Amino acid sequence: MNFRMSRRRRVYEGKAKVLFEGPEPGTLVQYFKDDATAFNNVKKGTITGKGVLNNRISEYLMVKLGEIGVPTHFMKRLNMREQLIRKVDIIPIEVVVRNIVAGSLAKRLGIPEGTVLPRSIVEFYYKKDELGDPMVSDEHITAFGWANPHELDEIMSLSLRINDYLSGLFLGIGLKLVDFKLEFGRLWDNDELHIILADEISPDNCRLWDVKTNDKMDKDRFRQDLGKVEEAYQEVAKRLGIMPENVTAEANEKA
Ligand code: UDP
Repeated sequence: MNFRMSRRRRVYEGKAKVLFEGPEPGTLVQYFKDDATAFNNVKKGTITGKGVLNNRISEYLMVKLGEIGVPTHFMKRLNMREQLIRKVDIIPIEVVVRNIVAGSLAKRLGIPEGTVLPRSIVEFYYKKDELGDPMVSDEHITAFGWANPHELDEIMSLSLRINDYLSGLFLGIGLKLVDFKLEFGRLWDNDELHIILADEISPDNCRLWDVKTNDKMDKDRFRQDLGKVEEAYQEVAKRLGIMPENVTAEANEKA
């Protein structure tokens, strides 16, 4: 794996993933790290085996979404930590969908965490680390040309469909989908521009609470020093029925 990694050209390194040039034009290899950050990079750490689990969890969810007609960048998983994806132009907007109040919404509006929202809420944040990803409205997005009104409509309707589908999927395994973050990209196909789901869907960017106990099963365990972080990610994979064997072996090999 190290040999393959050093041979490929590194295109981009983010906080939790590295992107390498793919084997064919228009493809990339997405490598999942164990690194975790929170509060705009102020808190840093590693969650052993997280990369392996997120690679597998994101694969599973993207394939399922593909099956219901949501176009995604996912092509195939290559190994424990890497997946082949379609190269897209990332739209510099983080789309957050919320079903239950938590995190920044609880803080900003002073509403108790756990309050069930009367309907799902979609929020947009401008992807700009230096500015701490400020919240923006659809007006900012179209005025500054980050996406046009048609693209934004598509992003909204895809996000709500993804929310409906994933809420049901997680409920089926005893987890409440509190909120999550999505990223989209543009892809040209036969002279047509498509909006494609990109990035990853995993406990790094979803809040998942146990239906019975309300235990947090996501990155909030790391953000809030709740302990049992690795175990929570493993439990999500286990409930999805995709717990990869050898997670610990792989993690040890990397250490
Ligand atoms: N989120 C994310 N990346 C970010 C900010 C938020 O993946 O840079 C996810 C986060 O995990 C949660 C949802 O988006 O599931 C809403 O996050 P929130 O706005 O409450 O911010 P936070 O409390 O994470 O700062």
